[in-house]
Amino acid sequence: MAKLIAGNWKMNGLTSSIEEAWAIANGLPANKNVQAMICPPATLVARLVDAIDGTGLIVGGQDCHADVSGAHTGDISAQMLADAGAMATIVGHSERRTNHGEDDATVLAKAQATLNAGLRAIVCVGETEAERDAGTAESVVERQLEGSVPQGNSGSLVIAYEPVWAIGTGRTPTTDDIAAMHHHIRSWLAGRFGADGAGIAILYGGSMKPGNAAEILGIADVDGGLVGGASLKAADFLGIIEAAAGQTA
Ligand code: PEP
Repeated sequence: MAKLIAGNWKMNGLTSSIEEAWAIANGLPANKNVQAMICPPATLVARLVDAIDGTGLIVGGQDCHADVSGAHTGDISAQMLADAGAMATIVGHSERRTNHGEDDATVLAKAQATLNAGLRAIVCVGETEAERDAGTAESVVERQLEGSVPQGNSGSLVIAYEPVWAIGTGRTPTTDDIAAMHHHIRSWLAGRFGADGAGIAILYGGSMKPGNAAEILGIADVDGGLVGGASLKAADFLGIIEAAAGQTA
């Protein structure tokens, strides 16, 4: 499958950042081995969709409410993101799980709402450092998958494996550890979705940079990346996209 490289801008991005997205859109490689996405703050979704229209770059949200509409001050729904032109949304990012107390049931509801809105759901899972040190990384991730991944509609599902301790730290797991976890997730997907599990993209996220992207993206069952810090600058993000484009599809 074509690699998916999704940039998570988190709470970064003003009007001036539209230029950065434009630079990314215009620097995309011509080959079709890679699909690039930017998930800007909600304030920029519609504006980025307009700015990069027709370039091949796509836009996603970073989170959504589980309801379609209602009395939820400050929240946005997946349907609103779709209406703004988004093609996907991230759900269950560890910063949401930690900072907003989102548990697996909440993430599941948001993922289901995302699929119901016709968007791709990028469901994030990943262990803390203490859990890895305790040897429970695989069981923690499996529990998150069981609790957060909706049944059915596997065609619009993406899993992002993001070890919490690797996010924004400059640290990454060994290639063996990434390979083992992605293999574990693939097996779980096969158990849940049968043959369709093989077609679900599993992204790696956590301190991916132009310098380590080729090695990480070359690991079996790593179907792309979810990129935070390195997605904010066009040159860095394009370096990762180029690394993905250089992999055999
Ligand atoms: C993320 O927050 O999803 C992420 C992977 O961040 P970073 O690339 O900065 O580690």
